[in-house]
Amino acid sequence: METLTLKTTGRTEFLDITREVEKMVSRSAMKDGLVFVFVPHTTAGITINEGADPSVAEDILGVLNRLIPFQGDYRHREGNSAAHIKAGLMGASVQVAVEKGKLVLGTWQAIFFCEFDGPRTRKVLLKIIGA
Ligand code: ZN
Repeated sequence: METLTLKTTGRTEFLDITREVEKMVSRSAMKDGLVFVFVPHTTAGITINEGADPSVAEDILGVLNRLIPFQGDYRHREGNSAAHIKAGLMGASVQVAVEKGKLVLGTWQAIFFCEFDGPRTRKVLLKIIGA
């Protein structure tokens, strides 16, 4: 298992981690297989979406923040239920195929770490499976 450490700077933000994942895959020398990318946090998530136009990630985050307000009729005493709900919607893992040492992603796709209760230091775990 490889670990990628991230420092987030906002309360909520999307960080494009495609390059970092690519680097770890090439460092592993694995040419053909799969990379399993896992976020071991309950108030952060991960998703694949458009990376070419940064306003797409801003729009997704904007809608999530509008739909799920920070303050609400929540029971969780820690006070960060909104972050838990957003993390649940995005999910905790993505898988990307690797061929000839490269991530198999669509032209416009990027891998985003989704911070919902920052700023914090976060971890992303990568299991690189293949030969
Ligand atoms: Zn909590």
